[in-house]
Amino acid sequence: MREKEIRIGVFVCHCGTNIGGSVDVPAVVEYAKHLPNVVHAERNLYTCADDGLTAIKNAIKEHKLNRVIVASCTPRTHEPLFRSTCEEAGLNKYLFEFVNIREHCSWVHMKDPEGATEKTKELVRMGVARATLLEPQEEMRIDVEPSAMVIGGGIAGMTAAKTLANQGFDVYLVEKEAVLGGMLRNLYRLFPTGEDSLESLQPSIAAVEEHKKIKIFSSCELKEVKGYIGNFDVTLLREGEEVSFKVGTIIVATGAMEFEPKGYYGYGTYDHVITQMQLEKLLKEGQLKKSDSVVMIQCVGAKGEGVSYCSRICCMVAIKNAMLIKEINPDVNIQILHNDIQAYGAEYEELYSKAREMGVRFIKYTPESPPSVTMEGDKLKVEVYNELFGEQLMLGADLVVLSTPLVQHQGGVGVSKLLRVPLGKDKFFFEAHVKLRPVDFATDGIFLCGTAHGPAEVAESVSQALAAASGAGIPLSRGFVQIEAISVKVDPEACVGCGFCVEMCPYQALSMVNGKLEVIEALCKGCGTCVATCPTGALEQRHYQSNQIISQIKSIFHPVVE
Ligand SMILES: Cc1cc2nc3c(=O)[nH]c(=O)nc-3n(C[C@H](O)[C@H](O)[C@H](O)COP(=O)(O)OP(=O)(O)OC[C@H]3O[C@@H](n4cnc5c(N)ncnc54)[C@H](O)[C@@H]3O)c2cc1C
Ligand code: SF4
Ligand code: SF4
Ligand code: SF4
Repeated sequence: MREKEIRIGVFVCHCGTNIGGSVDVPAVVEYAKHLPNVVHAERNLYTCADDGLTAIKNAIKEHKLNRVIVASCTPRTHEPLFRSTCEEAGLNKYLFEFVNIREHCSWVHMKDPEGATEKTKELVRMGVARATLLEPQEEMRIDVEPSAMVIGGGIAGMTAAKTLANQGFDVYLVEKEAVLGGMLRNLYRLFPTGEDSLESLQPSIAAVEEHKKIKIFSSCELKEVKGYIGNFDVTLLREGEEVSFKVGTIIVATGAMEFEPKGYYGYGTYDHVITQMQLEKLLKEGQLKKSDSVVMIQCVGAKGEGVSYCSRICCMVAIKNAMLIKEINPDVNIQILHNDIQAYGAEYEELYSKAREMGVRFIKYTPESPPSVTMEGDKLKVEVYNELFGEQLMLGADLVVLSTPLVQHQGGVGVSKLLRVPLGKDKFFFEAHVKLRPVDFATDGIFLCGTAHGPAEVAESVSQALAAASGAGIPLSRGFVQIEAISVKVDPEACVGCGFCVEMCPYQALSMVNGKLEVIEALCKGCGTCVATCPTGALEQRHYQSNQIISQIKSIFHPVVE
């Protein structure tokens, strides 16, 4: 139901010189004042600053505004702020319209101020056309089960579980192996501290095992997850038996594994060509044979044909292990063949320098002429072109250690399918937004952390786990979630039950029940795919109604100014 008189207020932001530097903001304000239904227009130096927000609230009251348009930056970061400002002044937040003139005008047309100003006027006109038809909406409230599931009992999963449990929530920690600890169980000593890996795990294992709020399901497989934020129904398989429970939020911490370099540098053919993980095991068990010469080769299967990315941790793993071998046997000749050393951060740069002081030799090869490994008698021969000195080198080696990247494993792929959360191009779990939502999935209520997200060292895995636990804890402590009112509505008269929309929905928000289409509002992300698919026009999306969008498009061609 729309009010009789539409009263729109337009607020155009200078954003300092970000917008004002190329867009003629006073001219846009003047133009907006003459658009249909606009009863107030003003400019602000920074609309998102306190005085800008106060100006909006005052104008809503003073001019009896029932629609507000802010022409400034991106809705991704600022829409919640302006929406709540409207709410504080008593206006339904769905009567707010955002026009992005920074990314769409001032930044992209910086060298064409006139063009940028004209385009800004057009975008504001389109915003006014849509705002005129906006309707107030009510958001659905969903109760949240005050418990969480963490999938994966490595350092990231245990940290997340402990953090949530310490906040008083019940946590189900699911681990596919019989024991907790993940990759760290197989490592010897950790960079940068040098502490024993297994010992470093003990406090975390003890904390989760002893915590009254944590229930550990080891040797368990995830069978099914249904539902949505606040109400996930989980079924596990434990020794062939099904176990079911309900949780409000989920954290994915399924980790990663070392790339197996089959066919690279004689791996699998020559016994003395091993990976860094195998070297960690030899060091841990005190089984490393005394040798005269060790060659490590970096980026094996990384940044190229195996996987395209840099695994970020393997350079430090190589430096760490080279130093550990030197400590055991100072006379050993160690050469690290690399095409770039990733020793980011002052602490790691120091370790790199220390390794050089200890006599570890770093030789830079180019990806175009990588090293080759052959066997001569009982000795491995490594041939490499030293880019720095422009010379071909032939190195004898008792042991060749391949530094290979972290990659996704089958356990992670399975979880991605069960939870219907995406993997990125590198096959690691894909976050909702790299900067704004780095530990959330686009699906509400599901979070991620640790090496499931991409190659990371322990400290990074732990920081991500703390962030994921904070995110997962917010709906649990609030006890409810509010669902954005942008879900679809079905017109049962127009729906012929063809089911095309059910197939197309990427969030499984639609289902056909006894020939009738049902919408699970909590799952609907308002993407509009189903609306565009429906052959009979039976679907309409709240807040993005066809009439609103059509009016916006039409206004491009009808520059009506009163
Ligand atoms: C050779 C090597 C040396 C390293 N050395 C160092 C170092 O010195 N310092 C450092 O900071 N970092 C080091 N790292 C990195 C470190 O191992 C990781 O940062 C850390 O293990 C990440 O922990 P995580 O919990 O994310 O993953 P993980 O340790 O892999 O734990 C994931 C857990 O999830 C479980 N899981 C997987 N799938 C499922 C499923 N479907 N259902 C239930 N459970 C599942 C796994 O069994 C595992 O227990 C090294 C890595 C390698 C490979
Ligand atoms: S961390 Fe080092 S070895 Fe690993 S992929 Fe990156 S550059 Fe190569
Ligand atoms: S709008 Fe998108 S998420 Fe919602 S039901 Fe339609 S296709 Fe699914
Ligand atoms: S596509 Fe349209 S007609 Fe077909 S089931 Fe969905 S809403 Fe009904």
